[in-house]
Amino acid sequence: MRTILLAHVKRIVIKIGSTVITNGAGLDLKQIENLCSDVQQLRQRGYEVVLVSSGAVAAGKGDLGISGRPQTIPLKQAAAAIGQSRLMGAYKDALRPHGLKAAQVLLTRDDLANRRRYLNARNTLMTLLEYGIVPIINENDTVVVDEIRFGDNDNLSAMATNLVEAQLLVVLSDVDGLYDCDPRLHQEARMISEVARITPEIEALAGGEGSDLGTGGMATKVNAARRATLYGAGTAIINGRTPHNLLHLFDGHELGTYFLPAIDPMAARKHWIAFTKKPRGKLFLDDGARRAVAESGKSLLPSGIRSIDGSFDRGDAVRLCDLDGQEFAKGVTNYTSAELTRILGRKTSEIEGILGYKYGDEIVHRDNLVLRT
Ligand code: GLU
Repeated sequence: MRTILLAHVKRIVIKIGSTVITNGAGLDLKQIENLCSDVQQLRQRGYEVVLVSSGAVAAGKGDLGISGRPQTIPLKQAAAAIGQSRLMGAYKDALRPHGLKAAQVLLTRDDLANRRRYLNARNTLMTLLEYGIVPIINENDTVVVDEIRFGDNDNLSAMATNLVEAQLLVVLSDVDGLYDCDPRLHQEARMISEVARITPEIEALAGGEGSDLGTGGMATKVNAARRATLYGAGTAIINGRTPHNLLHLFDGHELGTYFLPAIDPMAARKHWIAFTKKPRGKLFLDDGARRAVAESGKSLLPSGIRSIDGSFDRGDAVRLCDLDGQEFAKGVTNYTSAELTRILGRKTSEIEGILGYKYGDEIVHRDNLVLRT
């Protein structure tokens, strides 16, 4: 079953959690060596591999005399600054005996939310792959503040899957997969081997705390799986501490939890609008407009907009809400908030008369609009 699902896979994003490659003393070099040997095997089998690796904070905090989790953001950032080069050094050393070279790619959410920078990052990654280099992505922890953070590397790995157009995301964690109840509390907990659709019930199973080292618990992993599968990539969550589990997965062993790709995946651009672009405001639509957009696949025209919230520019993302404030879609607006306050509720034929110009009839074109799933 698994081998059939993997049959169309060419490019893989592998997310490596902090707990997989560190121990109490810092980086676990043996684990990194094992992983790099698996990466080489995968490449020999013809797969292209992109790594998203955590571990910078865990590798650097010892130099600051910190044993638990760094308590402040500056401390975390300082630890990452120390640990990131150490992390890359460890990967370089572990890849070298296999004739492989590594490249460091540090990203913030802001980089990917800006379409030009997104395409730039994509070109860089594609070029690295073309030249046979192993890109190793991490969040650019030293410069991020809350507004531009991915938040956790699970999320970053889902964004990277879209960015490099991979067909598979493998999340290596210190747990075996998703269980039907918390295995730390219930002996009878059973692993869920396959998830066809991420329902609210599945999301509820994933609720709970993460580890001390990384940011993510199971909830962020399932959320990453949701984003990756909606883009059309299957997602496997497996235990990365078990040596060579990665290869076992590709050998067709039924391990971990596998989330099937969506049957009707979103195009890369729509996925980017839905998950990467940060919304700057809200448009509240009357019921007719809501139905036209949500049920008939129409573009949004000014007549159905009752009110707006926020200050945004042309090209920004906005949330589309019903009159109760329920968000049902997200899209890119063709008009600024200042322009919209003047033309909302009016007919398209009136736009030019009111503003003195017009960019088009649509406030949000259907091609730039994604319904909430
Ligand atoms: N970027 C962080 C690091 O390298 C980890 C964030 C996470 O694990 O989610 O240490």
